[in-house]
Amino acid sequence: MKSTNFLRETLRKRTTAGGFYTKLTGSKVQCFACAHECTLKPGQFGVCHLRFNQEGTLQVPHGYVAGMGLDPIEKKPFFHFSPGALTMSFGMVGCNFHCSFCQNWVSAQSLNDPTVSFPAQYLTPISSEEVVHAAKRNHASVVVSTYNEPFITMEWAVEIFQKAHEEGMQTAMVSNGFGTQQAIEKLSPHLDALKIDLKSFSDDRYRELGGRLQPVLDTIGWAREAGLWVEIVTLLIPEWNDSKEEIWNLTRFLAGVSRDIPWHVTSFHPDYHMQDRNRTNASSLSLAAELGQEAGLNYVYAGNLPGKVGSLENTYCPHCQKELITRRGFFISHNRITAQGACPACETPIAGYFPPERQNRSLYHSFLV
Ligand code: SF4
Repeated sequence: MKSTNFLRETLRKRTTAGGFYTKLTGSKVQCFACAHECTLKPGQFGVCHLRFNQEGTLQVPHGYVAGMGLDPIEKKPFFHFSPGALTMSFGMVGCNFHCSFCQNWVSAQSLNDPTVSFPAQYLTPISSEEVVHAAKRNHASVVVSTYNEPFITMEWAVEIFQKAHEEGMQTAMVSNGFGTQQAIEKLSPHLDALKIDLKSFSDDRYRELGGRLQPVLDTIGWAREAGLWVEIVTLLIPEWNDSKEEIWNLTRFLAGVSRDIPWHVTSFHPDYHMQDRNRTNASSLSLAAELGQEAGLNYVYAGNLPGKVGSLENTYCPHCQKELITRRGFFISHNRITAQGACPACETPIAGYFPPERQNRSLYHSFLV
């Protein structure tokens, strides 16, 4: 508890005046960074335990990272956005959900859960210029806000993304999708791609996590309307979200938004407070993937079990079925998509962002940078 208080105190100092909120009467403010849309009196913190009202101004996280590193873009996962790119990924602390199966719980849940402690000395003060400079020095072409929930730290992400764009890089966020239309409007000039975890298709399940289903579904639509490249991930958890009916409804919804949204169904492993069930096996993943394909989705992938899910790691042309990108885990061995972003056999355009310099070659990531 002592270390949590120290962390809170340290984080309180690493803030700046926010941009994404509305001033209300009586020095109250309403934050619109996420769908909780907290109304805060002076001195009050939001559901995220991060953003707070200081005498009528919303203070928001700024000027530090809790983690930063080079990752392949396939790890986010993005399979149709600059395949083979190296990302500079950064994260802060905190989340607006409290998922019992959180896989980044040390940084994400330290403010929500008294049993978790994140040492304050791991917060590294850094400027937005330094983040972008590190990306450039390491030949990363995409800068990604990830590890904790990016909507709740979006001012900091925007500051970094603006500088990344000035340097000709792409930008992306890895989010639970509990956003607002205003947040998407503010982010979209600076953001190129958004990965959303669609964790379930049940509002009851979402309420267990501290959220609601509808804002996540709305955010998927708003992001696409704003021109962002969107990919969706569902962590398939045995006896939590893996019923045939739920997967069918979820994938029918996605196909109704667009058949070209890539859907990644990934394997759960026991973690954090969800230790009472087994890992998701390859046959459950394959079954869910088949439902997604039957629902009409053109690009369905099974993740977290490299080499065990057959063709479900690769990209195929939805028209002629030619194998276009050959993958194992996060690694690409062949990318045959043309410089025009099309299938080389039948010239069908492949949905996504495929920079010409990355096409038609074998790729292996090098981390010796
Ligand atoms: S980010 Fe979300 S949880 Fe945090 S203060 Fe804003 S609306 Fe509330």
